[in-house]
Amino acid sequence: MKFLIVGAGFSGIVAAHRLSNAGHKCTIVDRRPHLAGNAHDSHDKAGVLTHNYGPHYFRTNSQRIVDYLSQFTDWHPVDYTIKSFTEGKHWPFPINLNTFEELIGKPATAADFERYLSENRHDIPDPKNSEEVILSQVGSRLYELFFEGYTLKQWKRHPRELDPSVCGRIPIRTNRDDRYLSESFQALPKNGYTALLENILADSPGTTLHLNTDFQEAREKFPHDHLIFTGAIDEYFGRRFGPLPYRSLRFEHESFSGRELREREPISGKPGFWQPAMQVNYPEKDVPFTRIVELKHATGQQIAATTIVREFPDDWDPSKEPYYPVPAPDAAAAYRKYATLAEAETNTTFIGRLATYRYYNMDQVTGMAIAAAENLIKRFA
Ligand SMILES: Cc1cc2nc3c(=O)[nH]c(=O)nc-3n(C[C@H](O)[C@H](O)[C@H](O)COP(=O)(O)OP(=O)(O)OC[C@H]3O[C@@H](n4cnc5c(N)ncnc54)[C@H](O)[C@@H]3O)c2cc1C
Repeated sequence: MKFLIVGAGFSGIVAAHRLSNAGHKCTIVDRRPHLAGNAHDSHDKAGVLTHNYGPHYFRTNSQRIVDYLSQFTDWHPVDYTIKSFTEGKHWPFPINLNTFEELIGKPATAADFERYLSENRHDIPDPKNSEEVILSQVGSRLYELFFEGYTLKQWKRHPRELDPSVCGRIPIRTNRDDRYLSESFQALPKNGYTALLENILADSPGTTLHLNTDFQEAREKFPHDHLIFTGAIDEYFGRRFGPLPYRSLRFEHESFSGRELREREPISGKPGFWQPAMQVNYPEKDVPFTRIVELKHATGQQIAATTIVREFPDDWDPSKEPYYPVPAPDAAAAYRKYATLAEAETNTTFIGRLATYRYYNMDQVTGMAIAAAENLIKRFA
């Protein structure tokens, strides 16, 4: 069988890998000039390894996904650390006992923090949105300090209009565990995501990749028996029910030489770095960006220079990248109309983050692509 696969991100390349190793012929197209989709990384002019479309922290609880990807990469283990800058200082974040000590200005125990939480958390037994989920765990002061402004900037919607999962996925701990994420496996591919996906592609017999090629051009040019589409589902259907809501982003990169960094040492606390952690959140409403990321903290790259990236949330229109599907009930209802059309499209399989309009991480789309390819292998056996 001949498959045309639209999108050379994790979804498209993993699907092609499985299908081609089962004897099918795959053609992958991507309108961008590179593979790896939003996980694309490259070395910038300063020689620093950068994630071109925002920082990608690989993590998973699935040993099956680790085993699969480990065939194509070694890993660099990371404890992703972040801080939040507000009221003129860097706070430990996600909220933990160290954050509480900063809040009250003196040493405290887990029992003190638990007492504070039980006195301050709002009594909301079944939180229905992102505001309620945080108020019910930590109360107003910590919610306003770290969540309200950040979320408003990121989504241009109040936390009470967003699904509980948006803020609810950030851990809140009464011990001193300050890891940003909780998954059992946290690491970056040693040579980056682009190299990882190039290696998967190299193990996909007979698969061809055509970059700078849009689906509209490819559908005629590459005759196929079945299509796998990993782009935006509303675009596939000509936005006939109107565009789905997305948030876009703008990234501002700035590099610093080793000499410039020496002056930053009092702030970064670490020679060779610009800021004290890989990611610093800026939750205050009047700061236009949401976070500054200095990936060198996570990659462990040995280089004198560094690069920081300021991330500005942006309204989406069709001329911009649709970075995030909006996790809100009205957006889910709008998506369902397109999902109904997709079910009737038996010669097309929709996989990945944009085609299913869900915020999936890389491990999840890898799992989804493997499962979809295995179903297709059975169907066309
Ligand atoms: C800012 C940001 C931060 C993230 N951080 C993390 C993280 O820390 N950890 C994590 O696990 N995940 C993270 N993710 C999610 C991660 O990017 C996705 O899980 C993963 O990239 C999805 O892969 P995909 O193949 O489904 O989609 P994509 O990577 O979006 O790839 C789809 C590809 O299809 C191409 N395409 C679309 N339409 C067409 C068309 N009509 N014709 C031709 N080509 C087309 C696009 O150019 C794109 O290259 C983040 C995402 C963003 C935006």
